[in-house]
Amino acid sequence: MRIGSGFDVHAFGAGDHVMLGGVRVAHGQGVVAHSDGDVVIHALCDALLGALALGDIGRHFPPSDPQWKNADSRQFLRHCMLLVQQHGWALGNADITVICERPKIGPHAEAIRACLAGDLAATVAQVSVKATTTERLGFTGRGEGIAAHAVVLLVRA
Ligand code: MG
Repeated sequence: MRIGSGFDVHAFGAGDHVMLGGVRVAHGQGVVAHSDGDVVIHALCDALLGALALGDIGRHFPPSDPQWKNADSRQFLRHCMLLVQQHGWALGNADITVICERPKIGPHAEAIRACLAGDLAATVAQVSVKATTTERLGFTGRGEGIAAHAVVLLVRA
């Protein structure tokens, strides 16, 4: 087995929605990002790359590269999953925690799980999506941004 962890943050900015795990979630703000700023997928990609000891998302998809401007982060996730498969591994399970005061994640968690499971060649039961606030403390508590943690376990395919 191989374990990996990932973490990502984006600041809130102008906009009317945030992308979370490939799902468009209506919100009074968007996020500041080169890509679509999907913190769930970015943390998950870093967890997959970490489990493979293949560096991080910035190495594979440099923000300086214009081809990733406004990119759909699901293409990052599918590429990371291809690397997982090429190295002879499959997803055992993934556990993701989204950290923010708003938007509320609960109503979207099932849609996010389904979307991620498809890109991870896994079942919904292998993908956990949960959320917490930081009790109004810190940058997430002040509503300045959104963060996500991800942990994955890979098993031999
Ligand atoms: Mg990011």
